[in-house]
Amino acid sequence: MLKKVGLVSLGCARNLVDSEVILGSLKREGFAVSNGTKSVDICVINTCAFIGPAREESVDTILEAGRLKKEGRIKKLVVCGCLPQAYKKDLVTQLPEVDLFVGTSDFPKIGGLLKKLSGAGGAYAVSETLDYLYDEKSPRFRLLPKHYAYVKISEGCSNFCSYCIISRLRGSFRSRTIRSVVEETRSLSRGGRLKEANLVGQDTTLFGLDIYGKMVLPELLGRLCSLDNGPQWVRILYTHPAHYTDALIDVIRENDKVCKYLDLPIQHISDNILKRMNRRTTKDDLVRLIDRLKDNIPGIALRTSIIVGFPGETEKDFKELLKFLKDTEFDRLGAFLYSEEEGTPASRMKGRIPEEAARERFDELMRLQKSISERRNRRFLGKRVRVLIDEKPESPGGSFFGRTEADAPETDGGVFVSGKRIMVGQFYDVKITDTLEYDLVGEVL
Ligand code: SF4
Repeated sequence: MLKKVGLVSLGCARNLVDSEVILGSLKREGFAVSNGTKSVDICVINTCAFIGPAREESVDTILEAGRLKKEGRIKKLVVCGCLPQAYKKDLVTQLPEVDLFVGTSDFPKIGGLLKKLSGAGGAYAVSETLDYLYDEKSPRFRLLPKHYAYVKISEGCSNFCSYCIISRLRGSFRSRTIRSVVEETRSLSRGGRLKEANLVGQDTTLFGLDIYGKMVLPELLGRLCSLDNGPQWVRILYTHPAHYTDALIDVIRENDKVCKYLDLPIQHISDNILKRMNRRTTKDDLVRLIDRLKDNIPGIALRTSIIVGFPGETEKDFKELLKFLKDTEFDRLGAFLYSEEEGTPASRMKGRIPEEAARERFDELMRLQKSISERRNRRFLGKRVRVLIDEKPESPGGSFFGRTEADAPETDGGVFVSGKRIMVGQFYDVKITDTLEYDLVGEVL
């Protein structure tokens, strides 16, 4: 039996959790598992298909692995996750070098499927019913440094934003139980190495509505913050602005362990575009929410995501967005060019923005945000901040790299830290000696 399995995890943090669970269950079934494609028998690629550029990256990675297979450096190639879920049987003919396709609700079957892999190729396990959700009993083979982890608290989405195919890839919204998330975080915290738990889902603010009849993220946060030897930072990612409650805002303010950082994708600000996106929020709602957050949670850092070039976006809509971003000054911002997704309501909308014009708007927006980020970073000069160290220096005499509670892993900037006896995975008080566009520079006190 082919024993050694290597995995390439593409896409978002939610996909990374799936990758860790896939490798954990394969290890439990007796396979030797590792990250990447070096000296393995079986290469598993956990793909992303959210938007065009992500699909291209997935296909490029598959073709590259196909080349390794042709050269005999890997024996079997397995493609799983969102790409097979999106394209189903079409992929079998388009990618003959692939031996097995596994859908987003078929991960638990992967061990058994690998054991049965024969010479034929094109084996297919992609279910139409999307109901899978891992739990605290699912083994995880950690791919990230042990001091931080993503914890998926829900799967799927039922918000149906007009440009998004997530519900087609992951199914409708479904939550884990509070007990399951707490037990998983407790086991990740064993040995005291876990310093930061990042809560992920498609819409974390809706957590529990489907199983408890009400949104219970505040209760979950309370439980996670009272775990003995639990994480010192609990971060909420992927919230939805339409689903904030006073209870949630209070728990964030009152719990030191809950990061004063919120990932709040607004996608746009003009009512014309918010309506076309089916974002369930108006400009007034968003302005009021952001004021509420800033007024009620001192020192809150806000991250947002924006889509530029959405069908029907007029010059006036775009100017309105720029003015809003200038007035609001988000601490962190990710912008995306609208990507037309087949079969979505947005793909049937009139008023497509020419690529060049959309690119110009994107560049103008990112120039504005760079100046905002630079200015906001200057507030920290001479200040003392708490930093969690993620990485050693790349070269002798170089700086360590870490993050403040206002920096999400793998997404935001961070802090270049110098000093003696610094260890990865530990917190340090750092004095900021310089500021850059997206990062800070400092020395351990
Ligand atoms: S909230 Fe909207 S954009 Fe996000 S996953 Fe759900 S449908 Fe897609």
